[in-house]
Order: sequence, then C-alpha cells, then structure tokens
Amino acid sequence: MEQLLGNNLSFAGTDARSRTPDIPFIPNRQLFVLTCVDPRVDPSDILGLTLGDAIVARNVGGRANRAFLDDLAWITHLHRTLTPDADWFEVVVIHHTDCGSGLMADDRLRGAFVEQGYDDATLRATAVTEPEQTVRADVATILSSTALRSPSLASGYTYDVATGLLTQAVAPRAADGYRVPGSVEALN
Ligand SMILES: [Zn+2]
Repeated sequence: MEQLLGNNLSFAGTDARSRTPDIPFIPNRQLFVLTCVDPRVDPSDILGLTLGDAIVARNVGGRANRAFLDDLAWITHLHRTLTPDADWFEVVVIHHTDCGSGLMADDRLRGAFVEQGYDDATLRATAVTEPEQTVRADVATILSSTALRSPSLASGYTYDVATGLLTQAVAPRAADGYRVPGSVEALN
C-alpha cells in the first residue's frame, strides 16, 4: 500500500470528485455492474468506467446470490422511495472465462473446504464453468426477484480473459411485469 498511498495523494489533487453524482445511487452511467472478484475483470478497465460512473458489486464468480440480491433490493428501495422520477439503472451481469470459481466444481478441492464448515451445495452452485449459461441464469434470477420490481433493466455478458472482449448473452430486459416504454415486445 505504501506506493498506492502516493497515488491516492495525487488523486486527491485532481478534480475527479467534481464529476461524481450528487446522489450516489444514481451513478453517471446509470449502471449497476455485477462481476467476479478476479483482478483480470476489473470493470473500470474492461468497460472504461471512471469514478462515479457505476455501482459495482463483485463476488466470487459474479453471482446473483442472496447477498447481492439483498444489496440490489436496498438500492432499488432507495431509488423508488427517494428519487422515483429519476432514470432507472441497468443491472449488467458479467461472467468470464477461466473463472476461479470453476474450481468449486472440483470435488477434491471443494470437499476439503466443506470439511471446514462450508456448504457443499452452495459452493457447487457458485461455480462458473460455462459463463454463458450461468450469466443467463443469474439475469433470470435478478429479473424474477423482488429486488428489481421497477423499470430497471438487466442484461448479461460474457468476458473472454484471452481476447478482452465482451459478448452479449442476454439483451437488456425489464423486471418481470414491467414493460419498457416504447418497446414492441412484451419482455419476459
Ligand atoms: Zn472469476
């Protein structure tokens, strides 16, 4: 951290903070990104986001687990209660190739961890071995959850750590029961 604290001093001397949103749950790009903790998939770099552009949630695999849904529900609640007329955000789920969470599918590795008191089924369900499949499943989970009863959208992408490219796996869709104004198809 010693060197990075120097970076922080430099940062504090810039005007980056003047471009951050007045309301923290309405980021500049109206994005809520969910992705993996893997340092190779930092959304600031792969999406070119800067300070204040997006809400970012990261966990192992970038999974729409209970903890993520609870956070999303809280932010949705704030938005609905305090700023109901503001534009709504799009939740973007990104799963990636060569994800370390895939090792949770390895019986021996997982077994030794389960012996330490962790839940076998939860670990198995967290593994991302086919990012396109899991990203589709997680976008579906988000869309059907109570966390997103609003005009918010959700979409899904896979990220290839070898090429640096994102590929859309799920086009933006509205939460269940909500129709995007002007859209021709009834989504979901
Ligand atoms: Zn990962």
